[in-house]
Amino acid sequence: MSDRPHPPNPHGLSDIRAIDEVALEAPTVEAGAGRGVPTWLAATLNYCSRCGAALRLGLLPGEDRERLACEACGYVAYVNPRLVVTTLPVTDAGEVMLLRRGIEPGRGLWAQPGGFMEIDETVREGAIRETLEETGLVVEPGEIVGLYTRSEAAIVVVAFVARIVGGAPTATPEALEIRPFVPEAIPWREIAFRTTEWALRDWVRRVRPDLEDGPR
Ligand SMILES: [Zn+2]
Repeated sequence: MSDRPHPPNPHGLSDIRAIDEVALEAPTVEAGAGRGVPTWLAATLNYCSRCGAALRLGLLPGEDRERLACEACGYVAYVNPRLVVTTLPVTDAGEVMLLRRGIEPGRGLWAQPGGFMEIDETVREGAIRETLEETGLVVEPGEIVGLYTRSEAAIVVVAFVARIVGGAPTATPEALEIRPFVPEAIPWREIAFRTTEWALRDWVRRVRPDLEDGPR
């Protein structure tokens, strides 16, 4: 796997970008507050994917919340969060490798590698794949540093601490720069996404509990 080329990644950063763009207009509270399907997501669910008839929102027998269901064939379009697999690649010297985004939103800001888990891979395989595609680094995911819910974006983000075992930092138009940061030097005011900030804070709390928490 270490000799694999680094193809463009249409389902990685770009998907997260689209989601964060949508979510920028959403309330900033961490949801899970029973607000139902996010409006932007509901707008994409109009027709039954099995028979093509219109979907209708309503209560079904035995269900405790309204569901989108097809009156023609009975298909229920369940709406659940998707998993975004990310890593904090850490060098032997204890630095975390971040990438500087080359595209909006967050152009010029720092993020960890990550993207949507594919349907035919494990969580760890997805984290390894996304990290390789976006940074050129081959990693071995270790412990999960955090698992973060963003209901307004319909995602759950898992962040692994990962040991770098091969590869070399490889910049792309999406990742202009890939460089290590010691915990003291994390650019807190230049972080692209809230989930990146949350994961970095949880990592710093583990490795350097003596450090100030950085600006909020
Ligand atoms: Zn149907």
